[in-house]
Amino acid sequence: MKARLERLRGELSNGGLGAILISQPENRCYLSGFTGSAGYLLISPQRAILATDFRYIEQAKGEAPDFEIVQTKGDLEGWLFKLTSELGIRRLGFEAGHLPFAIYRQLNDGLSHIPDEPDLIPTDNLVEPLRALKESEELELISKAVELADAAFEYIRSIIRPGLKEREVAWELERFLRERGSEPLPFDLLVASGPNSALPHAKPTDRTIEAGEPVIIDIGAMVGGYSSDLSRTLCLEGSDENFAIIYDLVSTAQLAAITEMEVGMSGGEADLLARAIIEQVGYGDAFGHGLGHGIGLAAHELPRLAPNSSTILADNMVFTVEPGIYIPGWGGVRIEDIVVMEGGKARRLSQAKR
Ligand code: ZN
Repeated sequence: MKARLERLRGELSNGGLGAILISQPENRCYLSGFTGSAGYLLISPQRAILATDFRYIEQAKGEAPDFEIVQTKGDLEGWLFKLTSELGIRRLGFEAGHLPFAIYRQLNDGLSHIPDEPDLIPTDNLVEPLRALKESEELELISKAVELADAAFEYIRSIIRPGLKEREVAWELERFLRERGSEPLPFDLLVASGPNSALPHAKPTDRTIEAGEPVIIDIGAMVGGYSSDLSRTLCLEGSDENFAIIYDLVSTAQLAAITEMEVGMSGGEADLLARAIIEQVGYGDAFGHGLGHGIGLAAHELPRLAPNSSTILADNMVFTVEPGIYIPGWGGVRIEDIVVMEGGKARRLSQAKR
């Protein structure tokens, strides 16, 4: 945690900020170790303060030993304005993408009563790029979450058959993941069959899975606060000729991207490795989402692999590679693995069968 704080402090001085108010939950946890669901961090070059309410005080003391703990009544009353003036902060950064407008207004109003009225400076992605580079302990937790998802998929492969409902399969997966030690799942599991699989984020329904149609399964586990994300597409008992063609195309595009991506490429260039293969065959419009996303304390975080993404890939980044083709009325195919960038190249963590 100390090293993380020092990296953030480097960013503060780059941005000319006297301190930053952290409100984004995963950033709060990443910097302090505090896993409670309410609270703010105030971080200046010299001080690191965790402000939370009565419910979390004891937990905060245990989880965030590097922080001074301040008890609040749940909002910014008193403590923040007192500290801002005590620390002589002239430019206070806040996380523009996460601070609700009502809180912003309260903050603005409170600061206007401090002599020399400090400026509120919106910041964007100050902590997120630090989170994108995983430490070895973080990679270990993600790898455990990946193994759990792989095991859940192997289990479901052994029992899935035509006649089961999407919802029944989703519940079997959820039960398996939780019984094998996953914390509350990072996102709603997806089991989408036939035409439903043409919806990239379909919810499991009471639809009965039939033979010969695509079934997309997208699952994730959570271990020590870190998530995994795995998608496979199945076809039970034979398929139409479309399925084999589209499956091979998605699989080829995914493996080509994993093999060819390198440190130093932008997220847009990495995305294009898979997209060009899919576009060449005329399915470009059917691949309507990005190639992948970082994963860690949040199921979706930096880096972003998508057209126009300028994030530069670096060693120790962990992200998904998940091209998909979706054809309304017929269905879809998505194949998703998690990779880690190591020695300049991507190494696949997910081992689930295809
Ligand atoms: Zn994903």
